[in-house]
Amino acid sequence: MSSARFFDPHIHCTSRTTDDFESMAAAGVRAVVEPAFWLGQPRTTLGSFVDYFASLVGWERFRCSQFGIAHFCAIGLNSKEANNEALAKDVLELVPRFALKEGVVAVGEIGYDEITAAEERAYQWQLDFAAKHDMVVMVHSPHRDKKRGIQRSIEVARECGVPMSKLVIDHNNEETVQDVLDAGAWAAFTIYPFTKMGSERMVEILRKYGPERLIVDSSADWGVSDPLSVPRTAALMLAKGIDPEWVRRATWQNALDAYAQSGQIDVAALLATPVIDQSKLFNDNSVLRGQAPRVLGANPAAVPN
Ligand SMILES: [Zn+2]
Repeated sequence: MSSARFFDPHIHCTSRTTDDFESMAAAGVRAVVEPAFWLGQPRTTLGSFVDYFASLVGWERFRCSQFGIAHFCAIGLNSKEANNEALAKDVLELVPRFALKEGVVAVGEIGYDEITAAEERAYQWQLDFAAKHDMVVMVHSPHRDKKRGIQRSIEVARECGVPMSKLVIDHNNEETVQDVLDAGAWAAFTIYPFTKMGSERMVEILRKYGPERLIVDSSADWGVSDPLSVPRTAALMLAKGIDPEWVRRATWQNALDAYAQSGQIDVAALLATPVIDQSKLFNDNSVLRGQAPRVLGANPAAVPN
């Protein structure tokens, strides 16, 4: 597997350890997108969002780079915390301050959780912002009432003028994939190790629908989840006789095509040997904890752009 290259376009790196990054890099994960989401318990002040968004464009990007993984992120107010309307109003005003920074490839993850009016207002506000700035949107879909939630997500995105080529709907399953493909949006699937959508089901979805606009991701976070979902699912797809080109598209190329629309991804650098320079610091801090730095790969100046 080490020669294959994978893109995990939905993983919450801030919840993962450097052991995970080492395993991901060894398994061929070359690039990730980390969307802003909730932290498992509600935030109570705007400052927590400021520091969290800053870590997505700063420290987490640096941490991944130290293991040869290109880190991109999506900035947005998640649907769950959109329901705290007093705070949500201030967070929405904060979104533009971070969403236009380097390395941000989308507005996300946004959408519906319980499909409330407050969620819809925050979703619309952020879709308007994305449409105005020609940005890609990563949509979280509800775990309950998923089909209705996804249909509504697509409808509202259309009303707000977001082109379907810039809409990535995540957490799909067998019941929703056709609606998303028919709309012309990207259909992403989060592969969980034990519950919800698993690798075996993903193999059959790819076999049935083909590789056009299908994307596999891990959505690995602070819960029971697997940062190696993408390479593991790819291995299972190949073992089950799926065309290797289809697997390559679903686990690398489609995510790259969707998010490179942002203009924030240096594709040539992703295709080159990863550069790892652990002698670098971020705000005077390193990930090394006193260990000797590894320096691997080409001189960054020599990587063609
Ligand atoms: Zn997520």
